[in-house]
Amino acid sequence: MSIVVLNLPTVKRKKEDRPKKCPYCGGETFQRWGQVNKRVKDTRFRQVKVYRYRCCHCQHTFRHYPAGVSYAQQSERLMKLCVIMWSLGLSHRSVTLILSVFGVRLSHMSGWRDVQEAGQRIRGRLKWKPARIVGVDGTWVNGKGIMVAVDLGDGELLAIAEIDEKEKSAVTAWLKTLKQKHNIGAIVTDDLATYKEIAQELEVGHQICQFHVRRWTGKALKVLEQELPPEWLHVIPSLQELIHDLPSNGSKVLYELWKQIPGRTTQPNEKRTPLEKLRDLVLRLSQDWERYIEFYHDPGIPWTNNRTEQIIGRLKNRAKRVRGYKTTDGLLAGSLIASQFWT
Ligand SMILES: [Zn+2]
Repeated sequence: MSIVVLNLPTVKRKKEDRPKKCPYCGGETFQRWGQVNKRVKDTRFRQVKVYRYRCCHCQHTFRHYPAGVSYAQQSERLMKLCVIMWSLGLSHRSVTLILSVFGVRLSHMSGWRDVQEAGQRIRGRLKWKPARIVGVDGTWVNGKGIMVAVDLGDGELLAIAEIDEKEKSAVTAWLKTLKQKHNIGAIVTDDLATYKEIAQELEVGHQICQFHVRRWTGKALKVLEQELPPEWLHVIPSLQELIHDLPSNGSKVLYELWKQIPGRTTQPNEKRTPLEKLRDLVLRLSQDWERYIEFYHDPGIPWTNNRTEQIIGRLKNRAKRVRGYKTTDGLLAGSLIASQFWT
């Protein structure tokens, strides 16, 4: 696990300032209306001082809590600490046990509620968050197909859904909703054929992760190097160079090359010859080229889907360690919380 910066909310023993607005009517003048000592569950304080005020306008009385304290029994600091410990892989019972060492008695149910509430808050914040460029990828967690969307602007996990990446219509519907909610302008994916169709259908920009392209073309060219007739071997280094340099006119260069390679002579059900394989590869690269270099047109688009893969790696790791992930909803809630601490 990478270094986690713990930014815990401050808790004050008493409120220094007077209330600014009445929570009932917005009135701005108050009378002090007594004080109470409130017992809190916190890492440092056992009780805090809470002043009561009466609104001169509507006559309602209300409590004015010190920083980090609310009507809840636990301070905000303790709540966040519970959530962090849980997100690091501890069960709610272990969290309760650790806190008891420091004299904080907490039922494991309230720890569980803190986690649920934190999950809901984050989900509420993410619901309509604008995310112009989004990384999309599928994976398998506990035998279930999972789709993940990452805001590539700030690297934040945006959404998880229980969808098999191969089910095109489900993936399309999911991305369509995300596009509307987050105002997505472009997606970054690996070069699965379905993503090309989906991006077209949803009318969003599309960048294909260049690490994926380099990986599969590297393998394919290595094989062809062994099989091609000698008079065509010179094509291989020029293809490698194109993929490495990603020139803007790559599509045209490849198309010209494709026209020079003799057409298919084998039957569709027959195995292709190495030269025919080369010809198909060149055509595919030519056709997809604009999706390799979408990032030239928009500085917000990364040329790989690295961030998304990184988040998927952490998510799978957590799913192995953390309890309470029997449902995808649980996985989503937990991963959203945990991702707030992933730096
Ligand atoms: Zn009032």
